[in-house]
Amino acid sequence: MKLNKFYFTLFALLVAIPGVSQPLVKQNIKETSDKLIKSALANDLGFERLAHLTDYYGPRLSGSEVLEQGIDWVVQEMEKDGFDRIWTQPVTVPHWVRGKESATLDAPIQKELPMASLGGSVGTPEEGITAEVMLVKSFEDLEKRSAEANGKIVLFNVPFTTYGQTVQYRVNGASAAAKHGAVASALASVASYSMQTPHTGTMSYEEGVKKIPHAALTTEDANLIERFIKRGETVTLTLKMEAKNLPDAQSRNVIAEIKGSEFPEEIIVMGGHIDAWDNGHGAMDDGGGCVAAWEALRLIKETGVRPKRTIRVVLWTNEENGLRGANEYLRWVQEDEKSLDNHILAMESDAGVFDPIGFGFSGSDDAYKILVEIGKMLKSADSGEVRKGGGGADIGPLMRNGVPGMGLNVDGSKYFWFHHTAVDTIDKLNIDDFNECVATMAVFAFAVADLDVRLPR
Ligand SMILES: [Zn+2]
Repeated sequence: MKLNKFYFTLFALLVAIPGVSQPLVKQNIKETSDKLIKSALANDLGFERLAHLTDYYGPRLSGSEVLEQGIDWVVQEMEKDGFDRIWTQPVTVPHWVRGKESATLDAPIQKELPMASLGGSVGTPEEGITAEVMLVKSFEDLEKRSAEANGKIVLFNVPFTTYGQTVQYRVNGASAAAKHGAVASALASVASYSMQTPHTGTMSYEEGVKKIPHAALTTEDANLIERFIKRGETVTLTLKMEAKNLPDAQSRNVIAEIKGSEFPEEIIVMGGHIDAWDNGHGAMDDGGGCVAAWEALRLIKETGVRPKRTIRVVLWTNEENGLRGANEYLRWVQEDEKSLDNHILAMESDAGVFDPIGFGFSGSDDAYKILVEIGKMLKSADSGEVRKGGGGADIGPLMRNGVPGMGLNVDGSKYFWFHHTAVDTIDKLNIDDFNECVATMAVFAFAVADLDVRLPR
């Protein structure tokens, strides 16, 4: 009798612990996930759509007509996919235009340098700005030699370490230089590798500091200038930039969803950003992330299995130079008191659709454990690893308001070769890697949407 009671207690205890009594990821989810992986890997519609988007609507900078035409095309294509709801959300966006631009080395040799004005920068006078170059290796270096900066073009030649560190010179370089009297500023492109490719990107001005033009040169040319200066040469540069900020323009977030069968108010949101820089085609950044999320939703729809919760794709606008799309999405969500709470998980792909590794997740340990279980279903694609920590710029506003978030982790070895350049084109991507990204997004989104339990916060 005593022994029986012991076994009964043990049994009751095991039943009470989720994950021991019954698997969280049930057989039917596994079967649908297998189907999703197979269909993702055998498909070329997503990659073809990505090629179409980026070939026809490449330089999708906020405020441009081509961005809005690209959005129209996406909506039109989505109509063919039979989603429950597709709509666009108006967003007011900054409107910066590059215009013509050039950088010319005048001394000690004459040379036209490939260059890219940085997003948000003011232009130069029509005749350009010609000045001696003061090359610095860091903000500290600039501070130390502050007296030399007056009337010069300050060139930050800072070796790439991480994007987060090196990008500080792109974002804050102009005001740092202007404070010491520089007439313009430039930097070696924020790039881990270069083939004379200038990398653009956003920059900003500190309030109360004079706005001076700010541009990227290639790492090769920044190093060339450094070698000249080390030999004791005086280096002179002419920058001509038509860049200017126009009044704000209208853009849109694109939203598509399939409604959940049991808890339609609970939402798994995934996506990327539809805008891109104006010098390339935004294939990697971030057409790939957008179309991968869209294709994942289409494949889920195609299985005929309606998940318990709603899965929503959002293609955010204006990530690159304003994040207005992501902020507008949050503002809209917050109009409904319960909606933020009902955002179960936010997923983003904005690191390129290269060979996927898995996801980086920011949320509770309980949720993490469930996601690790889900990741095991992606063993065949080797893309189910869930690491702690991760997210993305467009899901940032949701995450800061309590929504668990995760960003797709991929082989990042080439991302900063192409990032924000003219060579961010479809040929840098590979259909098999892209399809694996689709499979990875589809499986995680579907499984979380179809769990018996709500992913814990
Ligand atoms: Zn991006």
